[in-house]
Amino acid sequence: PARGKRLPPWLKVGLPRSADFARTASLVAAHGLCTVCKNARCPNIFECYSRGTATFLILGERCTRGCTFCNIASGPPSPPDPDEPQRVARAALELGVRHVVVTSVTRDDLPDGGAGHFAAVTARLRETLPGAGVELLTPDFGGCAASLDVVLDAGPDIFNHNVETVPELYPLVRPQADYGRSLAVLRRAASRPGMRVKSGFMLGFGERPDQARRVIEDLARAGCAMITVGQYLRPSRRHPEPVRYVHPDEFAELAAFGRDIGVAGMFCGPLVRSSYHADERAAAQEAG
Ligand code: SF4
Ligand code: SF4
Repeated sequence: PARGKRLPPWLKVGLPRSADFARTASLVAAHGLCTVCKNARCPNIFECYSRGTATFLILGERCTRGCTFCNIASGPPSPPDPDEPQRVARAALELGVRHVVVTSVTRDDLPDGGAGHFAAVTARLRETLPGAGVELLTPDFGGCAASLDVVLDAGPDIFNHNVETVPELYPLVRPQADYGRSLAVLRRAASRPGMRVKSGFMLGFGERPDQARRVIEDLARAGCAMITVGQYLRPSRRHPEPVRYVHPDEFAELAAFGRDIGVAGMFCGPLVRSSYHADERAAAQEAG
């Protein structure tokens, strides 16, 4: 993350490079895999890798879109690697995780948007780690219901798709996406019996508090049982600076607002990311 002089104290993270961190990093590399932790330059990578958790980034390292906040490279991607599902499953097994989070770049170049690949990864994980939870954090598949159904038919424990920001800021932050389309994706997922649906967004792009609350209302109406809200941090100097750093109290207020309107799984805080402590959250939701 950016370490500008204006970074407030609640965003300062330590850099505890433990043996466990190195083990996770080398295991990911040994299997020729990517993680969003590394490619997106997530500020929590030291903590998550040290806990032996990582979010696998499938379908290549190049995205067909170019969101302004994102560190993932854009450009023409390579064809999906048919061996990747097996490598993800092997790595997850060796990491010993009980909850596997898998995400991807957006593949507008593929007829199914990569849905079949998500399904293949899920099937491999089920075979290799029958006891583990599977959380898929997917792109919008261009709004294609048939592609989305392929992913939902694969039967993840949690279906996750982020709206990323308030609709008013889509042209600035997420120009190739569409807020209504993302809500439709979430609604369709939530219409599946027993499917736990999760979404999230970031603060700090210049949104107003009432706009953020409206997004939480929209997500609740779409059927989301879990919502993550974090602070946007620029991943490099090439990326725009946050418009502001939101105080932890404001995150707490948003969490309370969400719970008041019936969303039990509100996870809000400056360093919260879509996949931050996803294992514990999944377990808490199951217990609740
Ligand atoms: Fe990776 Fe998610 Fe942890 Fe970030 S919060 S390091 S993306 S698992
Ligand atoms: Fe990054 Fe996802 Fe946007 Fe692609 S679609 S640029 S991976 S946030």
